[in-house]
Amino acid sequence: MAVRGNSIIKGIEINEVIRLLNRAYADEWLAYYQYFIEAKVITGIMKDAAIAELNQHATDELRHANMVADRILQLGGTPLLHPQEWFSHTNCGYEEPKEFDVVAILEDSIKGEQCAISTYSSIADMVKDKDIITYDIVSQILADEVEHEEDLQSLHDDIADFVKDIKNSCNR
Ligand code: FE
Ligand code: FE
Ligand code: MG
Repeated sequence: MAVRGNSIIKGIEINEVIRLLNRAYADEWLAYYQYFIEAKVITGIMKDAAIAELNQHATDELRHANMVADRILQLGGTPLLHPQEWFSHTNCGYEEPKEFDVVAILEDSIKGEQCAISTYSSIADMVKDKDIITYDIVSQILADEVEHEEDLQSLHDDIADFVKDIKNSCNR
């Protein structure tokens, strides 16, 4: 553990920061798997565009897991060691895809990103002016999660519009 590095944390217990980060760490692994499996099972119109986006997001979530794990270790903590712990620590939970069509998959993913945004925003509030390194890391991740939500929402809206146009032209 980096003694001087950790001595600059003030106004919050290091163990509390570690606890918050381990919860986020669980979320990142579950988000990674959700994107991984969604990209496999997804069906329907324009699915290739969605698969590219889902795979890119999976890569980002795994990178976030790395960033969070490295910070936990710097703080002298241990990242969750057993996947079972992901379910007892997660903020956002895990819901397996139940419908595989593009629109349903994108809607599930948007919900996940909205939860991630709320989680990182509240961690940022808790460490602000107390642990600037963690604040910096969670701010970077938060910016990615905001981008993720926007990417998924715009793709969702494009596909929904496209489907509507097709239906209208069939009814003409
Ligand atoms: Fe993430
Ligand atoms: Fe994300
Ligand atoms: Mg993206």
